[in-house]
Amino acid sequence: MIPFLDLKKINEPYETAFQEKLKTVLDNGWYILGKEVETFEKAFAEYTQSKYCIGVGNGFDALVLIFKAYIQLGKLKKGDEVIVPANTYIASILAILQADLVPVLVEPKLETYNINPNLIQEKITSKTKAILAVHLYGQLSEMDKINEIAEKHNLIVVEDVAQSHGAKINKFQSLNSKFQFQNVTLSEVEEPQTASAYSFYPGKNLGCLGDGGAIITNDAELAEILFSLRNYGSEKKYHNEYVGVNSRLDELQAGFLNLKLPNLDADNKKRRNIAKRYLSEIKNDKIILPFWDLSNNHVFHLFVVRSKNRDDLQGYLTQNNIQTLIHYPIPPHKQKAFLEWNRLSFPVTEKIHNEVLSLPMSPVLTDSEIDFIIEILNQY
Ligand SMILES: *Cc1c(COP(=O)(O)O)cnc(C)c1O
Repeated sequence: MIPFLDLKKINEPYETAFQEKLKTVLDNGWYILGKEVETFEKAFAEYTQSKYCIGVGNGFDALVLIFKAYIQLGKLKKGDEVIVPANTYIASILAILQADLVPVLVEPKLETYNINPNLIQEKITSKTKAILAVHLYGQLSEMDKINEIAEKHNLIVVEDVAQSHGAKINKFQSLNSKFQFQNVTLSEVEEPQTASAYSFYPGKNLGCLGDGGAIITNDAELAEILFSLRNYGSEKKYHNEYVGVNSRLDELQAGFLNLKLPNLDADNKKRRNIAKRYLSEIKNDKIILPFWDLSNNHVFHLFVVRSKNRDDLQGYLTQNNIQTLIHYPIPPHKQKAFLEWNRLSFPVTEKIHNEVLSLPMSPVLTDSEIDFIIEILNQY
């Protein structure tokens, strides 16, 4: 069986280094917010060309804490509406709710699976205060258009980067791409006010061996609140400035991430090379391939095809020993958890959920495995 994602194989090359890292942390005798977290935060801020990185417990908390920090800053308040793509992974929507804000669903583009900027405007009310852009499957959203709308309506833009570590526009990171489109470096522009949430869940492009997450931002005020919020609202021990939570990036996980981060770009390149093969060699009218402009704006967290007879295609691939997954089988508005949305209609979103299938994709997929997958798909 060709596995959808072989995590054991992905982590195998690091085994000795991981063991040594465990020994280092044991020798240090400091297990919470120690040197490894500090080192990772510095390295990841540098990697993303941003000023601040705040390590947190997971990607969900990263999103929640960004919203809570904006509430502390007085820029958001309970009941404010946040625009979010209707086809996102449920975590994005749950995070908005967790921060006492109101998610407003907007349809994606069928071609990119990312939010359709042309449909945002009509959902904006006097209560709309933010847009949560989700770079689904690893491809950046149309940030130039999203930022333009946000600027016009004075909205905060938050990015869910849980699936797109390392995706770049004009060789820069996605954060504040508004400026990057004009090809100016961050140091030359006015302090932007956005924040991005990352997850290091094991299966992500940069994954640890448990839960982990981070926030990046260039906003000093926001960063200061975030460093405090993740740690019971306290910067100075036993002095609590905010009603915070316990969501700290684990010291050991940070240590593992420090070992893996240097290989992220090379891993993403391997993913893009596999995508290039899939895109040029899969030739089957029954299979719709994903859109990609061949730039580094896509890191192929997932390679998602569509088919009218998705379940049949999946069954066929299983029979041929190729494991696939569906991201995602049920759209958020059809989930039991959101009964009040169940009668709403989002045709593009529903079509996506009915037709998508994720092919095996990871930096450890071998050439012969890729050959075989393509051959089987072409015979379908
Ligand atoms: C994985 C993921 C999250 C949540 O990350 P966790 O670390 O699992 O909490 C949020 N949004 C998207 C789009 C994700 O894929």
